[in-house]
Amino acid sequence: EAKRLNRDTISFFKSDMTRKMMRRLELEGDLRRAIESDELAVHYQPKAEIATGEIYGMEALVRWFHPTRGLVPPDEFIPLAEEIGMIVPIGEWVLRTACRDAVELRRRGMPLHLSVNLSMRQFREVDLVERIASIIKETGLQPAALELELTESILMTEAASAIAALNEIKGLGVSLSIDDFGTGYSSLSYLTKLPIDILKIDRSFIQHCGHDGNSATVVSAIINLAAQLGHIVVAEGVETVAQLAFLRERNCSRIQGYLIGKPVPIETFVAQLERWRKIAVALVEPII
Ligand code: C2E
Ligand code: MG
Ligand code: MG
Ligand code: MG
Repeated sequence: EAKRLNRDTISFFKSDMTRKMMRRLELEGDLRRAIESDELAVHYQPKAEIATGEIYGMEALVRWFHPTRGLVPPDEFIPLAEEIGMIVPIGEWVLRTACRDAVELRRRGMPLHLSVNLSMRQFREVDLVERIASIIKETGLQPAALELELTESILMTEAASAIAALNEIKGLGVSLSIDDFGTGYSSLSYLTKLPIDILKIDRSFIQHCGHDGNSATVVSAIINLAAQLGHIVVAEGVETVAQLAFLRERNCSRIQGYLIGKPVPIETFVAQLERWRKIAVALVEPII
């Protein structure tokens, strides 16, 4: 009896593990074909200036529409893409697509600032800077309109080559931001050594700043740190008016979050822009 139970238990775990491994293997194979199969799309989320309510920019966020599984979230496939190296062609495809879209918006009278996420893995490519430069040239986007979002892991690297790459990217006229700031384990001294322009406060702190004193303290500290260092600060994941009021009171300059708008395809973005602007302007109207 015990023996059978044991065998059943093992086969249960085995089948569970097998299922997970199968899914991973399948996703891996599918991901390798996703670009050619035209399954990837770039969505854009608006960013607003708190002082004026102006929609000054947008963040490009990749989407994968799997033919049978439907939408696979980036949190699931980006780590996989990083592991198997596919993030390099995917990241390049996203950058090119987003630059083209930003140029098209500009042509239609909407000169928005564009930010694109860059994976740490892309920094290991020796020709990263040349590739970025060639995409800028090919699409005709003004480098000053482009920002690359990096994670804090870049602050941890002591690799001189990564620091050199950052300086070269800056040299192209592109801005650099630290995404999800506050969640990594970076040494703050790197903030003084790397050519960073913008800090993006992680969503987790913003979400709790209304009811959790520690999160509120962290948010205030990051805003002050950014100001002292001469960096712009963007609050991510702003969902409520109370969060906006908190940020505004502490002189945070920019916000991004569902309160203003969710990531959407470019055509929807264009169609929503005026409505978003009205929402943002109304939200920041001085409270009498
Ligand atoms: P991220 O760069 O920090 O992007 C912000 C994420 O927060 C996005 O999730 C966005 O949809 C979500 N978000 C924004 N505002 C709100 C809000 O008010 N509430 C909530 N609940 N969520 C909000 P998404 O699009 O699922 O992307 C997740 C992550 O995947 C990104 O985090 C980024 O790290 C990565 N990612 C997405 N696209 C790319 C890409 O093209 N390249 C690379 N390397 N990474 C990407
Ligand atoms: Mg980002
Ligand atoms: Mg983020
Ligand atoms: Mg994130």
